[in-house]
Amino acid sequence: MIALNNHPSGRHFLQIPGPSPVPDRILRAISLPTIDHRGPEFAILGKKVLAGLQQVFQTRHPVVIYPASGTGAWEAALANVMSPGDAVLMYETGHFASLWNKMALRLGLAPEFLALPGTDATDLPNSWRHGVQAELIEQRLRQDSAHRIKAVCVVHNETSTGVTSDIAAVRRAIDAAGHPALLMVDTISGLASADFRHDEWGIDVSVSGSQKGLMLPPGISFNALSPKAIEVSKNARLPKAFWAWDEIVEMNAGGYWPYTPNTNLLYGLSEALDMLLGQGLPVVFARHKRWAEGVRSAVGAWGLPTQCADPRVHSPVLTGVITPQGTDADAVRRLIHERFDLSLGTGLGKLKGRMFRIGHLGDCNDLTLLAALSGVEMGLKLSGVPLAGSGVVAAMDFFASAA
Ligand code: PLP
Repeated sequence: MIALNNHPSGRHFLQIPGPSPVPDRILRAISLPTIDHRGPEFAILGKKVLAGLQQVFQTRHPVVIYPASGTGAWEAALANVMSPGDAVLMYETGHFASLWNKMALRLGLAPEFLALPGTDATDLPNSWRHGVQAELIEQRLRQDSAHRIKAVCVVHNETSTGVTSDIAAVRRAIDAAGHPALLMVDTISGLASADFRHDEWGIDVSVSGSQKGLMLPPGISFNALSPKAIEVSKNARLPKAFWAWDEIVEMNAGGYWPYTPNTNLLYGLSEALDMLLGQGLPVVFARHKRWAEGVRSAVGAWGLPTQCADPRVHSPVLTGVITPQGTDADAVRRLIHERFDLSLGTGLGKLKGRMFRIGHLGDCNDLTLLAALSGVEMGLKLSGVPLAGSGVVAAMDFFASAA
């Protein structure tokens, strides 16, 4: 029987690709007394987190913080720059790209969903095993000589698959086609774990959330803007009020918000920024890459395929593991949760039951990952999945040899 607090002793292993475990340091910061969000202290906090976020997004331009989950920031991104019926070119990399596409439809836009056609030997869609193919975007934009397409929307780190996309290549494709479309990028699970450069990559709107690389609980999300996006937003006609950038950016200049922000999560954000920027983003990115490599060494030793079929674009944030045909990946996950108090990500959308996801982001280290891999290996064995060898031993060898 599952009860609300079902973790009798020790820490629960929250090994899903977000929400990621929240470090004690951040939990303590969140527990500070709530202060007056119009008072002088608050402005110091507001200005600090806004400036720190600019460093994390690698931008000199405004970043907007919403008291909402990532889905809210998706809607904000579209609502601020689009007008009813606008054509948007989106790219199907997985479940989250599909949800953003569905949202565009519900908002009254005319999204076109590009994808790599077909399935492969695993019988899973090719488009859900590879990153964005920038040349397909370039081809499509070249056909749009009337410039009906107003934005290109892509997901940087597709959390449903563990595949990243080359955002700089998408910018080059848009430029090569000589097309004025805005570039909008979901980096909800990429930010602060994988390298992300809002300005250098020519992104107009970046969308992110708190509960992944920033190591915070869910509840705040972000839009990073470009000057071009801000200009476009002035004449965009989709209804927007709560999401509208103009009033927020104006009040943010003084460190305040036009509504009540989530003060305590902002304390947590301030602490997270101290941790991440204190270590330096390159160090943070390198350690995620290394963890991912260690986890892949385990999956390889088990003899199971990763959901990402292109070695150039493996996610540093999570690894999708495909279970053999006939093995229900969710049954394996359930068993691992029940026996070892370890949560793994479920297969989403078209991947339901075919794979599970191991998160390796945020507040992890080599030993927590090895423990998580032990839980997975025991669960696979108990589920009767034939394994080629020990993934845990392979990962131990990797972590011991790669400092
Ligand atoms: N986009 C990506 C890539 C995600 O990983 C998620 C959530 O996991 C979302 C969008 C939706 O964000 P939220 O669940 O915070 O609303």
